[in-house]
Amino acid sequence: MSHPVLTALGLTELESGTYVGSGEWSSTRDAGVIESISPTDGALLARVQASSQDDYDTIVERAQAAFKVWRTVPAPRRGEAIRLCSDALRRNKDALGTLVALEMGKSKAEGDGEVQEMIDIGDFSVGLSRQLYGLTMHSERPGHRMYEQWHPIGIVGIISAFNFPVAVWAWNAFVAAICGDISIWKPSPKTPLSAIASMKICNEALKTGGFPDIFFLFNDAGSDLAQSFVDDRRIPLISFTGSTKVGRMVGERVARRMGRSLLELGGNNAIIVDPSAELKLAIPAIVFGAVGTAGQRCTTTRRLFVHETIYDDVLAKLVTAYKQVEGKIGDPTDPANLMGPLNSRDAVQAYLDAIARAKAQGGTVVSGGSALDRPGNFVLPALVTGLTNDAEVVQTETFAPILYVMKYSTLDEAIELQNAVPQGLSSSIFTTNLKAAEQFLSAWGSDCGIANVNIGTSGAEIGGAFGGEKETGGGRESGSDAWRAYMRRQTNTINYSDSMPLAQGIKFDL
Ligand code: NAD
Repeated sequence: MSHPVLTALGLTELESGTYVGSGEWSSTRDAGVIESISPTDGALLARVQASSQDDYDTIVERAQAAFKVWRTVPAPRRGEAIRLCSDALRRNKDALGTLVALEMGKSKAEGDGEVQEMIDIGDFSVGLSRQLYGLTMHSERPGHRMYEQWHPIGIVGIISAFNFPVAVWAWNAFVAAICGDISIWKPSPKTPLSAIASMKICNEALKTGGFPDIFFLFNDAGSDLAQSFVDDRRIPLISFTGSTKVGRMVGERVARRMGRSLLELGGNNAIIVDPSAELKLAIPAIVFGAVGTAGQRCTTTRRLFVHETIYDDVLAKLVTAYKQVEGKIGDPTDPANLMGPLNSRDAVQAYLDAIARAKAQGGTVVSGGSALDRPGNFVLPALVTGLTNDAEVVQTETFAPILYVMKYSTLDEAIELQNAVPQGLSSSIFTTNLKAAEQFLSAWGSDCGIANVNIGTSGAEIGGAFGGEKETGGGRESGSDAWRAYMRRQTNTINYSDSMPLAQGIKFDL
């Protein structure tokens, strides 16, 4: 029998994974089946029919036709379409948040929070639809006007990771939609139901408002279709969220066809706690950053640099806090629990491997470090000391709740260590020292896309541009001027004089 939340969202035990447009879901039955498995107890939630090559071709053709219409719709009117989507998500927040918790394994509060991010980026996009500003420039020639405008880019391909199964789509699809683009989404095979539910909610809202199709969806049982998607010249922009390993390949292949990619890849985020830090702020932020979503956020705190004078005190406080979390690990849909399971058995194995490597490389596990002997993919959050920042395991993003705690002596040293990893996503300092805070944020401070003071590394707000440097991929999504990635810039010069003055004063006598 279906879980009640599936019924509430209009999902059945066998769903089509392909939205082909015009209100139709594909009836393909021979492209494989994706099973959605609950990480909490291993139960089968539902099965999803994967998409075929024919489905994919139909989607791209329909998306191309849809783009020809959508690009002519005034941007504020496109904003109205997204307003309907965020309103529909408000009505379905509780059910969709529960489904995300059930399928991905994050807590109910975090599942609801993810849907709230969809709503927020929807509202942001409505406003943005009236603010796709270009600059005007002063021409060097008399009687000339020069300005730039931003046009829609075409079809945006969205490939998303399992850990933010719905918000990442909305960050991309809603902003792309108000920019005049059509989007095609390939979600993670670990969270197909959350994707199908989001698509149903938003497409129903668009239909009710009399809007055409602007969102399409396919699910790939393996990675062949995803690979064709990446290589498809009809898709001018691929926005990829996932591991650095897959993202590197995506970036290289898209570049080979001279397409554009927006890469949101792995992080290895650190917090620095300086001697002046208020520990009543720092400790909860560290614990939430390291343990929240069971360590499965790209912005999860993975490294902690504590000043040597307060190291013992901070470590003792963390061990106490971790013991409290250990008593609240379980069913993520139960609001009493603080930490749910890892998403898959593979993730549990990756956690155990990292703990073994940490020990082999000289680390001491002072809290946690093992899997729980019960159904589901539950592990204890781990605190590891005694390693240096250059240890292989510390340099690597293990997508699990493992925090490496290290000592430092000077702020210069702490900043250098925090920057000395291949990734560059999120970073924080806890301090009440103005000079330390400003140095951390300066050009010789953190090298990350996100740098915070007295706030942890995770939990970014949608209003800012989100993304990171180095092996995190360099992409920026969500707020600020991240919308520009979804448009093409055109510089226009208009001559309203009676002569033909050439630029740079060149004479070309005929
Ligand atoms: P993953 O790289 O395994 O998968 C991501 C997506 O890529 C999935 O949809 C997957 O099906 C698809 N994929 C796999 N092989 C492909 C191929 N050959 N061609 C095209 N697509 C392919 O990542 P994951 O395990 O789902 O997610 C965890 C990772 O994502 C972590 O590294 C995390 O840091 C990162 N992440 C980054 C951000 C960010 O904004 N920077 C956000 C969320 C997650």
